[in-house]
Amino acid sequence: MITIGILAVQGAFIEHQYILEKLGVKTFEIRQLRDLKKGMDGLILPGGESTAMGKLLHDLGLFNPLKDLIKSGLPVLGTCAGMILLANKLTNDSHIHFQTMNIEVERNAYGRQLGSFFTNALFGDQEIPMTFIRAPYISKVGPGVEILSVVNDRIVAARENNQLATAFHPELTDSTYLHEYFLSIIKAR
Ligand code: GLN
Repeated sequence: MITIGILAVQGAFIEHQYILEKLGVKTFEIRQLRDLKKGMDGLILPGGESTAMGKLLHDLGLFNPLKDLIKSGLPVLGTCAGMILLANKLTNDSHIHFQTMNIEVERNAYGRQLGSFFTNALFGDQEIPMTFIRAPYISKVGPGVEILSVVNDRIVAARENNQLATAFHPELTDSTYLHEYFLSIIKAR
């Protein structure tokens, strides 16, 4: 059985849990260092507020252990703020986090009017529902990064080996497609 750890220090983690349970996956919440002993086949970094999450990761001593796990190849899904945590570079923020993924990200990229919106768009060759909430977007990808979705000329999903990042919240829709795609990365390992 696949077990996935979900970072649960802040933000929208419970919705990921519901979707994964629907898919028959075991999950646990990562709130402190000792939770990492449980062992996982995959990691989810949810949406929320990346600056707050980054600070909590350091305060709780989770930052380096999680970064090492990601660098060693643990499959990780970062959604929205979680994508910001993975980015190598942020165009408009001095707080950089794990820097494990070769993407450049702009925070709060859609401005106030379009702060939040919903759309259906292609992820790979599958159309899926996407919920954007004060979302970032990927302004640049480096070598080895596969672009998986573009909405309004902006890159909103990408993958680099074990790392999958989306600007939108797949857990806030009734589609399980993106989580199933993440599970396929785990199973292929
Ligand atoms: N705007 C948030 C940030 O910059 C991300 C928004 C989200 O995760 N829904 O951290």
